[in-house]
Amino acid sequence: MITINPIRAFADNYIWAIGSQNSNQIVVVDPGDATPVLKYINEQALSLTAILITHHHYDHVGGIKKLTQHFPGIPVYGPENEDITGITQFVSDQKKIQLNELIPQEDKFCSSKQTTQLNFNCSIEVIDVPGHTKGHIAYLAKSNNALFCGDTIFAGGCGRVFDGTIEQLYHSIHQLKQLPKETKIYCAHEYTVDNLGFAKWVEPENTDLLKRDDEAMTLAEKGIPTVPSTLEMECKTNPFLRTHITEVVQAAQKYAGHTLKTELEVFSAIREWKDSQYD
Ligand SMILES: [Zn+2]
Repeated sequence: MITINPIRAFADNYIWAIGSQNSNQIVVVDPGDATPVLKYINEQALSLTAILITHHHYDHVGGIKKLTQHFPGIPVYGPENEDITGITQFVSDQKKIQLNELIPQEDKFCSSKQTTQLNFNCSIEVIDVPGHTKGHIAYLAKSNNALFCGDTIFAGGCGRVFDGTIEQLYHSIHQLKQLPKETKIYCAHEYTVDNLGFAKWVEPENTDLLKRDDEAMTLAEKGIPTVPSTLEMECKTNPFLRTHITEVVQAAQKYAGHTLKTELEVFSAIREWKDSQYD
């Protein structure tokens, strides 16, 4: 059974550490900064055995160089459709990564190749989720129903469109909505309270949302992470996953000033509304 713990970085990033109770080995997702990862590793006498990258933004990739200097030869998985320095294994949709596979590792003392057996068994599937960026990918650990979705879905919100398109982002989120409802959403930022504030603009009378907002504020005040959330909770409270709900459609139409005919149009209007008037 794998364990998943947050390592905080920058003002509001989460670098997720995937480990095992029976092992001192961990894999990290989106290490934008090496310093907090190395601190976490040193404090707990751990060893880094792989890095998973979701997309090219600096706050997700900035730690690759220093971490691979400390742990030479470890595989660095990342999206096939983005240009990221330091990626050793380019992956795309449906690729399965077996984290217990034998991974070649340079022996720094005698410069020969050796192999390292990871002591935990975890199969991770890659899902293409372009939109925030053009090549963004997510990692799904089915055994734990854990989705590492980078900046695609956030608790109560979703990523902005940078070098992808709004159509891609809508379709990626729609695709992730088909996963089991108990799927845990390990997003890369602590934006929950802020996102739920906007969600209340869209659905001021959604009781699930109001309850979640109260709970998130209590956690945030205590400095406790509000993530992971679950897909079920996002479907109940996140406006970007609720573009089929009458209240959301009506609110989006009111903002747009005209009738919106498709869920994509509703999604686009909500994203534009948040970008232009809330953030
Ligand atoms: Zn990003």
